[in-house]
Amino acid sequence: MKNYILKFILFLCFLPVFSQQNDIDIKVDELIKKMTLDEKIGQLNQYSGDNTVTGPITINPNKQNEIKSGQLGSMLNILGVKYTRQYQELAMQSRLKIPLLFGQDVVHGYKTTFPIPLAEAASWDLNAIELSARIAAVEASASGIHWTFAPMVDISRDPRWGRVMEGAGEDTYLGSKIAFARVKGFQGKKLGDVDAVMACAKHLVAYGAAVGGRDYNSVDMSYRMLWETYLPPFKSALDAGAATFMNSFNDLNGIPATGNSYLQRDILKGKWNFKGFVVSDWGSIGEMVAHGYSKDSKEAALQAITAGSDMDMESNAYRNNLAELVKENKVSIELIDDAVRRILYKKFELGLFDDPYKFSNPKRQKAALNNPEHTKIARDVASKSIVLLKNENNVLPLSKELKTIAFIGPMVKPKRINHGFWAVDLKDVDSTYIVSQWEGLERKVGKNTKLLYAKGCNIEGDDKSGFQEAIAVANKSDIVILSIGEAWNMSGEAKSKSNIHLPGVQEDLIKELQKTGKPIVILINAGRPLIFDWTADNMPTIVYTWWLGSEAGNAIADVLFGDYNPSGKLPMTFPRDEGQIPIYYNHFNTGRPSINDDKNYKSAYIDLSNSPKFPFGYGISYTTFQYSNLKLSSHKINSLEIIEVSLNVTNSGKYAGEEVVQLYLRDKVGSVVRPIKELKDFIKVHLNVGETKIIKFTIDKSKLSFYNDNLDYITEPGEFELMIGASSEDIRLKDNFELVE
Ligand code: BGC
Repeated sequence: MKNYILKFILFLCFLPVFSQQNDIDIKVDELIKKMTLDEKIGQLNQYSGDNTVTGPITINPNKQNEIKSGQLGSMLNILGVKYTRQYQELAMQSRLKIPLLFGQDVVHGYKTTFPIPLAEAASWDLNAIELSARIAAVEASASGIHWTFAPMVDISRDPRWGRVMEGAGEDTYLGSKIAFARVKGFQGKKLGDVDAVMACAKHLVAYGAAVGGRDYNSVDMSYRMLWETYLPPFKSALDAGAATFMNSFNDLNGIPATGNSYLQRDILKGKWNFKGFVVSDWGSIGEMVAHGYSKDSKEAALQAITAGSDMDMESNAYRNNLAELVKENKVSIELIDDAVRRILYKKFELGLFDDPYKFSNPKRQKAALNNPEHTKIARDVASKSIVLLKNENNVLPLSKELKTIAFIGPMVKPKRINHGFWAVDLKDVDSTYIVSQWEGLERKVGKNTKLLYAKGCNIEGDDKSGFQEAIAVANKSDIVILSIGEAWNMSGEAKSKSNIHLPGVQEDLIKELQKTGKPIVILINAGRPLIFDWTADNMPTIVYTWWLGSEAGNAIADVLFGDYNPSGKLPMTFPRDEGQIPIYYNHFNTGRPSINDDKNYKSAYIDLSNSPKFPFGYGISYTTFQYSNLKLSSHKINSLEIIEVSLNVTNSGKYAGEEVVQLYLRDKVGSVVRPIKELKDFIKVHLNVGETKIIKFTIDKSKLSFYNDNLDYITEPGEFELMIGASSEDIRLKDNFELVE
């Protein structure tokens, strides 16, 4: 009886949610009944504005007329209260007054920029990641934006691909957790709140597996790999409530994702029951012609709408062809209505029909874009994203008593470089708020420390004329900090590279400075794992700083001087050489595994080791952590039971700090071969000096399942190896258990 009462109370609590949904459905149906075919097709079109415009904007008269006649559903690249309002006013002159949706790539912050997503992934701190997306949403939504084209949840095992900077790295488990956190952050408590933007999980799917790491390239992979490795982060984004999805440029098994019914209809809208809408990638409907999949733009429109692409970003394929396709009975009106319904639903859910200018409030914009709390959080997230790769002589952390520091390198003074590729270019906003690395250090050191500067060299090119000055400056100092790496626009969309070594003569500069005999701290700024084999072997102190956003300078100084003890761990494997790519930790064993670099008829290169330079999950701290006392509650379970795993982690060093304790599993024998290890859980824990904490994990069926040859998600009885590590290679504790029928 009690149970019924409880259920009834719960029903009453959720009634407003259900009735709101029904309410929206009714409103959408009513509106659709009033719409002409042209107005319906209009909702499926999305154009780009010109976000580079400052001052009074002139809107192309043709575009104005289209908006006024209800032929446009959404725009991207219109930023700020003033401009979004101007466009929305045009939409309000249309017959049905259907508001426009404003979308934008708010990928790692809006005005306050955060570390690039790959860097943030290195924090393994899901709360920090969610918070950074939250702040991005607060700022963007206050500036008229309704929708971000983020998070990018593409798994990638290829650092040649420039867009690795935009994802969470190579691992499906970590990537899925981060996808969830980011969607939650962007969408806040619920869509319809004035500070929530719609998330867009992209790019469905396998875009990160482009052959040769070349952007936009073809993808060829088994469906088993697709389900096991590439799809889960999308499912996770959906579970977090992602309002929209974006399809991708690549073809998959010969069918462009944009025209792929299996992906969009069968999986996303079918099996996963996704109720939001799918936007094409920029021009990707039209590009099906170049793929050789569609004869012309009309056929592309037919294939895309049939396959489940609801909104056409910038192809004009829907705008120019859908009406004719409907008249020819090639596209049913039900198909059009379904796409329109999905888009209108979101506009109602956001509350735009009640107030189309809801997100365009100048006061809110001003407050959100000048909130010191955001800056503080950006600094914190940036510190957490830094990965300490080497600190052999314990040169770090630096003492504030140092007399003279030489801060050298092409990354020291510029500001924009710290922003990273997808930073929104707010032309109206003065960029002085970005803290350069020089400024960060200057603010950090005491009055008695002298800072000397030399650029040393450019990022690219072979000019060594600045070396002499750099050497002279180094000779006058107690210590050298050398900041090198990639420019902000060397990793990102369309920035694939065949050579990912440290660019230009930067490594030569290191070699010259090494001759001075001064201690040198190397800071490497980049949007991807770079290759710097010589430096990694010869230089004792290396910090990977990625691109950290507007608080980069402060965050770097915090880490260098020990105000923050680095805790980042690599979310991607760092290769020794391009020839090893793709390289990733969770690979399968071959019939001839190369153990300890045995090359004799083994799966090995005769001229290079198989092992990475720095493995997935790697990163050190100023302190040390001891792992001990691994206990499993049981060594034999069936698939309904769980194992409780516990262990102790002790801070055995001299500084308080955080450790990411990683749990890996290996399924020893399977009906399909299984990876040599797979991350299945992790905990980031803070420990004071001398402190020990008990870390607990739970192993259940979900951690033991995989896709078999028939694409069924199953568990199989057998032995598993459990590994607890400080990285994928630094396994500290091990045990085995058995899964029985
Ligand atoms: C990218 C998308 C992005 C879109 C809009 C495309 O080229 O692939 O990720 O959201 O442009 O800027």
